[in-house]
Amino acid sequence: MANENQLQSIIAHCKEYGFIFQSSEIYDGLGAVYDYGQYGAELKKNIRDYWWKSMTQMHDNIVGIDAAIFMHPTVWKASGHVDNFSDPMIDNRDSKKRYRVDHLIEAHAETLEKEAADALLQKMDSLLAADDFAGLKTLIEENKIKCSVSDTANWTDVRQFNLMFATEMGAVASDNPEENKVYLRPETAQGIFVNFLNVQKTGRMKIPFGIAQTGKAFRNEIVARGFIFRMREFEQMEMQFFVRPGTQKEWYEYWKETRMKWHLSLGIPQEHYRFHDHVKLAHYADAACDIEYDFPMGFKEVEGIHSRTDFDLKNHQQFSGKKLTYFDTELNQHYIPYVVETSIGLDRTVMMLLSEAYKEEDLSTEEKKDSRVVLKFPPLVAPIKLAILPLLKKDGLPEIARELQNECRPYFKCFYEEKDTIGKRYRRQDAIGTPFCVTIDHQTKEDQTVTIRYRDEMTQERIHISQVRELVMKAIQAF
Ligand code: ATP
Repeated sequence: MANENQLQSIIAHCKEYGFIFQSSEIYDGLGAVYDYGQYGAELKKNIRDYWWKSMTQMHDNIVGIDAAIFMHPTVWKASGHVDNFSDPMIDNRDSKKRYRVDHLIEAHAETLEKEAADALLQKMDSLLAADDFAGLKTLIEENKIKCSVSDTANWTDVRQFNLMFATEMGAVASDNPEENKVYLRPETAQGIFVNFLNVQKTGRMKIPFGIAQTGKAFRNEIVARGFIFRMREFEQMEMQFFVRPGTQKEWYEYWKETRMKWHLSLGIPQEHYRFHDHVKLAHYADAACDIEYDFPMGFKEVEGIHSRTDFDLKNHQQFSGKKLTYFDTELNQHYIPYVVETSIGLDRTVMMLLSEAYKEEDLSTEEKKDSRVVLKFPPLVAPIKLAILPLLKKDGLPEIARELQNECRPYFKCFYEEKDTIGKRYRRQDAIGTPFCVTIDHQTKEDQTVTIRYRDEMTQERIHISQVRELVMKAIQAF
């Protein structure tokens, strides 16, 4: 269920606790661009590592690469991005505000009763599928949809806008700027396609096999909103799986199931996810669906799974004039492989985990009012795994605590703190999602036991100091 307040609380929390800041904040920020702070960067890295490991380490037949952001300009002609990577937009003449047509209509649908909303969205989907721009404008007018800024329905025609950022390469000014034009990649996938044969040959890969990659992508999103849900600079984690033509349906189903299992392994309940099958297929796909998560704004895409046919390789072969076929020794046949792609946004996954983890808990008792904000991250992705807290700054307690820190820090991220009361220190760790805190006190000196405190239940127990490392390691074990 949509919950705008929760989203605002998460944004404020992320800023207050060093997870996510607006880019160039001291200059009033840059639209839909964000920076990750000290805890956000750890969280993001842990998710990226988990995805990378699940693809490249847990599969014999998937390898990872790291392709450049800049690519030859013809790549984007071959991929269809120059001609097709655009969204239908409409401008309000009074406010000069530009809207993505689907977002404008969807926002209006949210104000309607379910039946009317469904009918409207169905109509919109079929007009979008037919690229019927005049029909979309009529739909907006018939429904008396207004601009939220000017409150008028004074609309331009619907037009397509390309979402790629372009820049120039090289210092020499050319008479023809088109010659030096390069794009910031709008997806990481094309870096995989153009390296398909390099990897296949040097890695002696046999079909079916996959190539995985994580990295930045850039889209000049017109309507960028929803915090890190829709950014102009973001990170993707993509895997292209090359298969025999004719087997793509089976692999598509396989990857749908496998990716959903990955999501569930983050400890997020099944009912917070759903599949959404595409009605309007992208120009390259013969089947496609999204894995949607129930964000504070409602169910939205976090990952796409696409059966991309041989579209990309075939076009790169045609545009480059280089053969991109594979020789299948079992079939004794050359062919261009088909591709099933899994494509997940890293920032959206961060947002999903934040939405899932963020809890405001009322801890009031009859005697006193109390509450806490806690991020209940799975230990695997939590920025800090263990906080080590000497009860006092004296009596040799800090030394014991430092010794434990030195024992654990090669294995996972620890946090050492000796200021403030233990209660305050616990709350600060709750707010950044640290799953375990250990307190070193005078009893530790006598019997080498420490108090371990569990974030979610807030229960405590005494364990031997030598058990701490193992306990945390077990909790963060991924596979
Ligand atoms: P949307 O419909 O939300 O624009 P999309 O279908 O264009 O997304 P894909 O091209 O399939 O997205 O990209 C794969 C993944 O990359 C998405 O599932 C999403 O997680 C992520 N992604 C795409 N665009 C953005 C963006 N502007 N900001 C953050 N993440 C993004």
